[in-house]
Amino acid sequence: MSIFSHPAYDKHEQVAFYQDAKSGLKAIIAVHNTNLGPSLGGCRMWPYADDGEALNDVLRLSRGMTYKSAMAGLKLGGGKSVIIGDPRKNKTPELLRAMGDFINTLGGRYITAEDSGTSVADMHVIGERTRFVSGVIEGSEHGGDPSPSTAYGVFVGLKAAAEHRWGRSDLNGLKVSLQGVGNVGFRLARLLKEAGAELFVTDIFQDNIDRAVNELGATAVGADEIFDLDVDLFAPCAMGAILNDDTIARLKVGAIAGAANNQLAEERHAAVLREKGILYAPDYVINAGGIIDVYYQQQGDYKPAQVKEHIETIGTTMQEVFQRADETGDTTAHVADRVAEERFGHEDTLKTDTAAA
Ligand code: NAD
Repeated sequence: MSIFSHPAYDKHEQVAFYQDAKSGLKAIIAVHNTNLGPSLGGCRMWPYADDGEALNDVLRLSRGMTYKSAMAGLKLGGGKSVIIGDPRKNKTPELLRAMGDFINTLGGRYITAEDSGTSVADMHVIGERTRFVSGVIEGSEHGGDPSPSTAYGVFVGLKAAAEHRWGRSDLNGLKVSLQGVGNVGFRLARLLKEAGAELFVTDIFQDNIDRAVNELGATAVGADEIFDLDVDLFAPCAMGAILNDDTIARLKVGAIAGAANNQLAEERHAAVLREKGILYAPDYVINAGGIIDVYYQQQGDYKPAQVKEHIETIGTTMQEVFQRADETGDTTAHVADRVAEERFGHEDTLKTDTAAA
């Protein structure tokens, strides 16, 4: 298996492999870029079909973290780790401690946090062996869970999208559809409700739907019906790749602003949305509230007001992206990438800029 010529390899600074026979740990850490600071990104545990799938995931996700942190104005680089295994069957304290030892070998170039298949409790176990772990703040209101901050950041970014798209400064009466009302989606729905929006929700779990209907007065719709609704704004808060040829053709909304990672099935779908007149809030810009929260947890001296203020900068960053996209005729997704690359000093951007100067 090749690394330097791997399709997902993008000048990653370091890719480390580790196995611990005693606990059964098999893991990879990818440090994509540390120009702005140590790399930070979640530790994902997943029953990957093979090592290649795990490598592809960690290369892709670590690169994404560089862009996300740069856009969030954090002094952080991008990194990610993956543990190969089923979290429900193979996760043991011994395995997590071995992961802590692995993280520690990188001496702080990589800081971990919870992700799919790992929890705040798991971070405490990893933290027995390394201090390079975040999302474990003690005694705080949220106990380390970044979801409330992610939801608030999406809410701020969604307001910026509504303002840009319709020139409105309030959300009163705005019809919003939400795909997924889990940790982030439900909290976002509550903020939207408080702001006067009308909610349409779907989820694959009935109890999540019931909670949104009973507590927020949302209208429940079918899992597939969500793409055909006559609403103003769509907030994807479930899974990736849901903006594809089929769904975009069906969407009647004026804007898309939600928490889910990797919403565009392919890069070209950003242009398809633009052609259709749908304003797209790039996912990694709007869902950065969680990483901002985790950053302050890692710094120590966590001050909720300071974190909130930083999360609110998502609104201004989003406006900058929308404006630049209008001025250049480029897609919002591509503009976001360029702004992020300027911020973290991507080699290709530097070369282009030098050539231009
Ligand atoms: P979650 O698992 O708590 O919520 C996701 C919800 O989506 C669940 O209720 C699930 O039942 C539902 N769902 C799954 N497939 C669906 C489908 N096909 N149709 C309708 N509903 C479906 O996860 P979360 O923490 O709320 O994260 C939501 C999204 O936001 C994910 O894509 C995640 O990667 C992204 N994200 C989360 C955070 C965070 O802080 N939690 C940060 C950044 C990005």
